[in-house]
Formats: sequence, structure tokens, C-alpha cells
Amino acid sequence: MCAAVAAPLRLASRLALVTGGGSGIGRAICQRFAREGAAVAVVDLNDSAAQETVKLLSRDQPGQEHANFQADISSSEHVANLMSQIQAQYSRPPCISVNSAGITQDEFLLRLTEEAFDAVLKVNVKGTFLITQAVAQALVASGASHGSIINMGSIVGKVGNLGQANYAASKAAVEGLTKTAAKELAKFGIRCNTVLPGFIATPMTAKVPQKVLDKFAGMVPLGRLGDPSDVADVCAFLASEDSAYITGACIEVTGGLYM
Ligand code: NAD
Repeated sequence: MCAAVAAPLRLASRLALVTGGGSGIGRAICQRFAREGAAVAVVDLNDSAAQETVKLLSRDQPGQEHANFQADISSSEHVANLMSQIQAQYSRPPCISVNSAGITQDEFLLRLTEEAFDAVLKVNVKGTFLITQAVAQALVASGASHGSIINMGSIVGKVGNLGQANYAASKAAVEGLTKTAAKELAKFGIRCNTVLPGFIATPMTAKVPQKVLDKFAGMVPLGRLGDPSDVADVCAFLASEDSAYITGACIEVTGGLYM
């Protein structure tokens, strides 16, 4: 067993925006980024959850200032306001953006309603588009020489999943969107990558029946469901210069499920 080591300070003096930062994977990413020295703009529809996250973040670096922002990422008006508020608070755009906000509304295809299909696509796809575009526009306008945009896909977008036609479609779309952004934004020094978590223990998966979770845990070669910190570790790598030559990639964080 290796001894735990302190997180390196790969993100010192960086400003990171994390959507869905009030819960689960997003909260773990905020915590990891703060431990690596970043100032974190914690964004969530649920503002009290985002406030709770801010309270948990380390502030060991000079000028390391975290703040919570309430926004619905599926609204262009909210996203525009969000970017103005971040600019007013930090006087610079975030050079790291993680879009972790996402929702499920599960139902078998034969019973899936148009409303549930549209609702999931609106947050997971349109929201990812609006945040990606807004951060990229702000970075390009500021003349920044580098940026890292990380979008949360899912292994389900690659392999499908019972009861998740809308969610699987939305996560496959996130991959296509992010790869296109990677191609268009490379000339500005902005890298764009997708992370594909497998089954991670969070409030989102708490809705899944225990017997289904046990079944998936049994199928994972590494023998357990993922922890939000497993995903946060990969996001910290993608946010940092340790991944300087990686763009347009989809990195699976699944414990080996579906390899
Ligand atoms: P979660 O439900 O714990 O957290 C999601 C957060 O997003 C919540 O705080 C919620 O308030 C926020 N949110 C929802 N809609 C929003 C909106 N319109 N605007 C702003 N914020 C909004 O979920 P999680 O498990 O942490 O999932 C995070 C991301 O990872 C999601 O995109 C999810 O699809 C993806 N993912 C999760 C798993 C998993 O097993 N947990 C697997 C693969 C992918």
C-alpha cells in the first residue's frame, strides 16, 4: 500500500469554473482544484448546495478566493449573467471550466415522454454548449494564451443503458460537441476534453435501485463503484499542464467497465 501524498499545486493562481459544483462529482472537483491551488467559482442551480461546497474548500494559497454563483446552465440569459458576475468578481475569465451539471429522467424507451427527452437534452447538451461557448468566448476576447474545458460525458453515451435513451443520447452529444470545440479552439490554446465516468456513488446514482448498483459493482473489473474523487483526480490532470498535449480526448473513468 502506497502512503497518501499531498496534492501538487498544479493549478496555483488559476481561476476554475465548475458547474454542478453543489453535489457529487462537481463538489469533489471543486475540492480537488482548491487543494491544487485554484480559485474556484462554484456554479449550481441549487445555491445553498454551492454555498456548502465553498465552505469546504481549502484556501492555503495567497489570493485564493472561492465564490458560489446560482445559474441554470440551460438558460442563455443565466449563463450570460454568470459570466458577467465572474468577470466582476475576479476581473478575468476562468481559464479552467468543468461542466459537471447534469440530470437524469429515466424511463424505458417505450414509455419515455417527449417532455423527459427534451428536459434531459436541454440541461445536458444545451447547457454544456452554452457554458463551453461562453467560457471560450471570454477567453478568446481576453487574449488568454491557454485554457482547459472539460465536459462530463458518461460511459452510457458510448454503450447505452436500459431506461436511459434520453440520457445516453445527451452524453453521446456531449462527446461530439466537445471534440468539435477541441478542433475549433486549438488555435487559441484552448484544450477541450470529455470525461466519461462509469458508475460513481453520488446523489444521482442514489436514485438507482440498490440491486442494480450491486449488479454494476459486480461487473467492474476493479471491483467497486467509483468515488467522486476518482473523477476529480482525472479532471485535475486535464485542467493542468500535465495534459498539455491532450485535446479532443474522451477519458473513461469506469474501473474498467465495458473495456
Ligand atoms: P449530482 O446529481 O450529484 O449533481 C449534479 C448537480 O448539478 C446538482 O448539484 C444539481 O443541482 C446541478 N444541476 C442540475 N441541473 C442544473 C442546471 N440546469 N444548472 C446548474 N446546475 C444544475 O450528479 P453527479 O453524479 O455528481 O453527476 C455529475 C455529472 O457527472 C453529470 O453530468 C452526470 O451526468 C455525470 N455522470 C455521473 C455518473 C454517476 O455515476 N454519478 C456517471 C456518469 C456521468
